[in-house]
Amino acid sequence: MKLAVVALGGNALIHPKERGTAERQIKHVNETILRLKSLVKKFSLVLTNGNGPQIGNLLLQQEHYKQTIPVMPLDTLDAMTQGQLGYWIQQSVENILKKNAVTIITRVLVDKKDPAFKTPTKPIGPYYKKKIFPKMIKEPEGWRRVVPSPKPVKIIDIEEIRSLVKRNFVVIACGGGGIPVIKEKNKFVGVEAVIDKDYSTAKLATQLKAKVLIFLTDVPHVYLNYGQKDQKPILKLKKKDARILLDSGEFKEGSMKPKIEASINFLEKGGKRVIITSPQEINYALAGRGGTVIE
Ligand code: ADP
Ligand code: MG
Repeated sequence: MKLAVVALGGNALIHPKERGTAERQIKHVNETILRLKSLVKKFSLVLTNGNGPQIGNLLLQQEHYKQTIPVMPLDTLDAMTQGQLGYWIQQSVENILKKNAVTIITRVLVDKKDPAFKTPTKPIGPYYKKKIFPKMIKEPEGWRRVVPSPKPVKIIDIEEIRSLVKRNFVVIACGGGGIPVIKEKNKFVGVEAVIDKDYSTAKLATQLKAKVLIFLTDVPHVYLNYGQKDQKPILKLKKKDARILLDSGEFKEGSMKPKIEASINFLEKGGKRVIITSPQEINYALAGRGGTVIE
């Protein structure tokens, strides 16, 4: 069977106005997995997921009890949320899609010379009244920690993932963009950083030689002039036109831009098709009647 790599966006799991109880989040996981019923008949599946809201909550809990229990570093929190979300997705795939599933705690190699380490940009966790960490930025709501967001160099645990795909498991990998590690004196060491899951997912799809890459997010299409009166859905896009739009600054930093850039990377390295859409629209998109398809 052909392989499809599917990214589940963080917002598809916690809705912005919800408290994020386990019950609610599991409900959203189930709703999303249900939409993959026809996909799983045609493709082997590898699923990845975002973890922004979940790791933010976990960090808050850690901060709250820091007098009694030491705060865990970000790479460890990443591993914890990979387990949390992996468990929910795994259970949902088995209950709804009736396929055996397995979650891989996934490490992703980053370059310690990545310029992102010099200028941390990614805000995470709670707001503070004053500057208590060396790297913080001031937002209207208060001070916030910022961490580097380096690019993935390669998925370290790829062989394990590949062999499980071969054995017909639905594999859940690269949660939250993967745990960032660097190589130091020939040993892997975790670092406090956050990799955008869009880049890691595309990297994973390339390394697995998948033909299809799907980003499930909370909008049905990629739009031109997004958020303006004249916004227009893009239904089909050629790789070279995606590049032109990307270079012209059409897509927003931190949300749509990484998806488009990651899509182009994937298509340049042997990928055939990228679909960006919502869980609700995925089946229309697969039939060529919805979503945004980049080829
Ligand atoms: P995910 O967890 O799926 O990666 P993101 O928030 O990072 O979620 O990306 C999805 C968001 O991108 C949408 O909710 C939308 O607000 C935003 N977005 C920015 N630019 C565009 C665009 N041109 N077309 C569609 N959505 C866009
Ligand atoms: Mg995102």
